[in-house]
Amino acid sequence: MKKISLLGATGSIGIQTLDIIRGHREAFQLVAISAGRNLDSVRKIIIEFKPEFVSVQEKVDCETLQTEFPGLSIGYGPSGIEEAAVYDKADILVNAVLGSVGLSPTLKAIQAGKTIAIANKETLVTAGHLVMEAAIQHNVPILPVDSEHSAIFQALQGEQAKNIEQLILTASGGSFRDRKREELKNVTVREALNHPNWSMGAKITIDSATMMNKGLEVIEAHWLFSLPYEKISVVLHKESIIHSMVEFHDTSIIAQLGTPDMRVPIQYALTYPDRMPHPTGSRLSLAQIGKLHFREMDFDRFRCLKFAYDAGMAGGTMPTVLNAANEAAVAAFLEGKITFLQIEDLIERELHKHTIITNPDLETIQEIDEQTRKSVLSLI
Ligand code: NDP
Ligand code: MG
Repeated sequence: MKKISLLGATGSIGIQTLDIIRGHREAFQLVAISAGRNLDSVRKIIIEFKPEFVSVQEKVDCETLQTEFPGLSIGYGPSGIEEAAVYDKADILVNAVLGSVGLSPTLKAIQAGKTIAIANKETLVTAGHLVMEAAIQHNVPILPVDSEHSAIFQALQGEQAKNIEQLILTASGGSFRDRKREELKNVTVREALNHPNWSMGAKITIDSATMMNKGLEVIEAHWLFSLPYEKISVVLHKESIIHSMVEFHDTSIIAQLGTPDMRVPIQYALTYPDRMPHPTGSRLSLAQIGKLHFREMDFDRFRCLKFAYDAGMAGGTMPTVLNAANEAAVAAFLEGKITFLQIEDLIERELHKHTIITNPDLETIQEIDEQTRKSVLSLI
């Protein structure tokens, strides 16, 4: 029986992780969760899965839940998430929280020797060097949940890193893949949230539309697979059937295919190196799909991808600025305070004015993250 602590249990990845636990009760037990402010979902999770520890974002919500579930151990805020992350009985931490708030709990869980299944890409973008250093130091596996990275991880089983020519990440192109830049000026939040292939949380759906999601994933791949940016490329693939590929020196390319269903990579991270039947998923029929399409990536059309490569290669605190500016700008777009293209402009401004600090520690990263968010807010 694998015991699971799940951060972000009420989100898109969180709910799908619960689906897998529900489908394999013989294999998994949920022992701790963290959530934000969706108390209705938290109540349902407590009743159905009976976790031993629960953390929510706000003190007032913690107090409400405590009166409803007097016997349950409940925490809140940053210390609550950390408590969930290092929960004693948990073997594995599924980090599906949104944003760089996931960084500190991840580091704590690594120090506590927990295996990490990471969906929370912002953590790897903002401080990949700290996470990977700590993982090596504490001999803790970091298992990818993001579909592209899971695909690469699967393609690399039994292979040697020295034989890799390049990683090829596939990108669906998001909600506006067939529109020109001029056609993006007046797009609405509702249009941007309408992803053609995947149903995901709001922030990552906007990141897909700006192509920042792929940019964050390039940096995520750099850290997870310890490869230079020159060996990480992106190709547009509108069907999202090939989830990513690895090309080797002998020109062979190994890909992982599947329907666009996040439960597959989530489950693989939970069962690795084993596999289990999918609880409910439909199987891929290539004959039914008939054709797959690929297109070269256009860095002028998708400027955020270029920002991410540049920030990743610059290193130091630059990816922290990229991520924090993006989180703040996307939140402002979702609240209707800025236009879609202003997301890019705000990020670009922050990147331009930042002076890199090399090899930043946790405190420096948190400081730069906060400063950048404030700076973006002051411009809105
Ligand atoms: P959602 O917005 O659907 O869920 C986010 C979760 O985090 C919710 O449980 C939310 O709580 C919680 N949360 C948000 N802010 C805070 C906070 N300040 N403190 C505590 N909890 C908080 O996001 P997704 O599930 O889509 O994405 C989660 C992560 O997984 C992201 O890093 C994303 O990039 C990554 N990812 C997602 C994929 C997907 O298909 N959705 C695919 C690949 C990666 P509540 O709702 O209760 O307020
Ligand atoms: Mg992805």
